[in-house]
Amino acid sequence: MITHPATLDVERTAGLDPEVLRRDFPVLHQEVHGKPLVYLDNAATTQKPSSVIDALVRYYEHDNANVHRGIHELSQRATNDYEDARTVVQEFLGAAESEEIIYTRGTTESINLVTASWGRANVGPGDEVLISAMEHHSNIVPWQILCEEKGARLKIVPINDDGEFLLDEYERLLSDHTRIVAVNHVSNALGSVNPVREIVDLAHERGALVLIDGAQAVAHMKVDVRSLECDFYAFSSHKIFGPTGIGILYGKRSVLETMPPCESGGDMIKHVTFEKTIYNDLPYKFEAGTPNIADAIGLGAALRYVNNVGLEGIGAYEEDLLAYATERLAAFEGVRLIGTAKHKASVLSFNLDSIHPHDLGTVLDREGIAVRAGHHCAQPVMDRFGVTATVRASFAFYNTRAEVDRLVETLHKAREIFA
Ligand code: PMP
Repeated sequence: MITHPATLDVERTAGLDPEVLRRDFPVLHQEVHGKPLVYLDNAATTQKPSSVIDALVRYYEHDNANVHRGIHELSQRATNDYEDARTVVQEFLGAAESEEIIYTRGTTESINLVTASWGRANVGPGDEVLISAMEHHSNIVPWQILCEEKGARLKIVPINDDGEFLLDEYERLLSDHTRIVAVNHVSNALGSVNPVREIVDLAHERGALVLIDGAQAVAHMKVDVRSLECDFYAFSSHKIFGPTGIGILYGKRSVLETMPPCESGGDMIKHVTFEKTIYNDLPYKFEAGTPNIADAIGLGAALRYVNNVGLEGIGAYEEDLLAYATERLAAFEGVRLIGTAKHKASVLSFNLDSIHPHDLGTVLDREGIAVRAGHHCAQPVMDRFGVTATVRASFAFYNTRAEVDRLVETLHKAREIFA
């Protein structure tokens, strides 16, 4: 049984005060069905601080213009802010150069870019692609399509009953045919934090590349792509307090340089004739067409916000909150926790008796509590645990123990309703 301190260790969390930080998030201050909103669906998408909303409004009110094209003042301002945001992302991920940061629509598009560009050029018949048994559909299906197209094999690294990545099985599955390993840093369905550093080392020993799906990691822990030595790292802005419709693919320059473009058109070219096109330099080679300028700027504002709060404090605070919530739910009769890895981040998946997760989700919603109920775009994980769906409460630093208490009280109510 996990035991948590009665109160929060303020020193460890670097003085992070959720009550103060909540003031930065306008959406949190509302009633839903006549009850104060408890937003516990952060793994699906996070709320946006005023600084992000303001950055979007400021851009559209003052600077709106196309980037990289105009010599006029507005275009230069838009270009500067758009490229500044890229530098913020570079520093946030610890990447060596801003040319290694490619704007995409999100994690899904980032992974599809790698399968379509690197994958098509580098995976052939008899080759192998390794993913884990706890991937989101967006880190399964693109690889499945690639393997089918190329006559390659998709191999799955199993997980144990706690939802932990099995490193020894992984080592056995790696072979000289493995071209790439694609794993999530943190599982969205289970919350397991994967041993990505070891995964990268073992893959590189066999000459395979590694893509890390960081969609559920970046908002909860410090990520440094250079110390991880991964070849690709993908994440979505909307899961780290930024706007939807924008995300990042980090790639090592040495790998990106060898990759053909994925989409083509304006901006990704240096020179076009009907006979031949010379492609643009990194990162523009992978950014065809007018980009999502405003949301890139919004992402920059979101990362600045997170930097100001401090990821160390965020990680420590959320660890405490997750331990508190886990202890309360583990002690709740009839609750089955799905995903009990030793190392977890911010996700609590569970079922209560035989109540359907959608029914439970609806009862929680009537009490103003937003959770996700479903298969979490990870149906193979549901199969692994013999369920079709779970209820998932997922936390951010603006959540509190009092909100966890409201969740638990409402579960008692639901039990009475469905008894
Ligand atoms: N991978 C993981 C682990 C995720 O949690 C998600 C979003 N639920 C994705 C990929 C896909 O992210 P997006 O929908 O923002 O592209």
